[in-house]
Amino acid sequence: LDVYGAPVIGEHERWLGVVIVFHDITELKKLEQVRKDFVANVSHELRTPVTSIKGFSETLLDGAYQDTDTLLSFLEIIQTESNRLEMLINDLLNLSNMERSAFHIELEPTDMKAVIERAVETVHPKLAEKNISLELDLAPVIVNGDGNRLIQVIVNLLINACTYSQENTKVSLKLYAEGDQAIVEVEDQGIGIEASEIGRLFERFYRVDRARSRNSGGTGLGLSIVKHIIEAHHGNVEVESEVGVGTTFTVHLPLAEEI
Ligand code: ADP
Repeated sequence: LDVYGAPVIGEHERWLGVVIVFHDITELKKLEQVRKDFVANVSHELRTPVTSIKGFSETLLDGAYQDTDTLLSFLEIIQTESNRLEMLINDLLNLSNMERSAFHIELEPTDMKAVIERAVETVHPKLAEKNISLELDLAPVIVNGDGNRLIQVIVNLLINACTYSQENTKVSLKLYAEGDQAIVEVEDQGIGIEASEIGRLFERFYRVDRARSRNSGGTGLGLSIVKHIIEAHHGNVEVESEVGVGTTFTVHLPLAEEI
């Protein structure tokens, strides 16, 4: 709270009273804090892979390269960390692009079933690695949207469903129309999310279990990207979850106008 006070002085320097202005800056301070946290998070997230790339390459140059096994395993780490860095930079650029006030996407009639099929192709190897079966129930639905961005939404949700599930479980994906909306449900049988965490999931870099989630290979930005894209489509996304049972993300998107 900012408080300003000033005397009100009338004729012959007579004090008439005092004006006090209370200015509530809670919201400003909160925004400022969010911005500071974001910069701190970005720095930390970028520094981690860079430190590792520097460390391992220095050790190799100091002589460790002479042992072939060490050479190979360190090169693998350097490659993994470089990929991670690339992913982070891409996600950050994507987000900052979407957060510009001028951000605008071209909405056109888009075959949502085809969008989902493309996303499934991308994620398939990751699901297969954990032997997670995917059950699809897709109605033909045309939404008002940007196909490539929507593919990214479904990919992010499917990757999370896979990352936060055990091996040999099932993920199901439904697409149907209801009223003037298209509805996509991505349901997993994974670890679930505590009710108290759900409100913060879509924040940049927010992770329920920091250590475990970072090791899972994500950037902590996936869901904030999902939220931005869906909101740019005038849609919304909801989460329902039960710890130890599973999680369902439900996306609502406006259907394309009938022609
Ligand atoms: P990350 O790269 O860490 O997965 P996201 O923004 O995609 O970042 O997700 C934020 C956090 O939400 C994750 O770290 C994880 O804790 C939680 N989360 C997301 N999807 C799921 C899911 N399907 N099941 C359980 N937890 C999830």
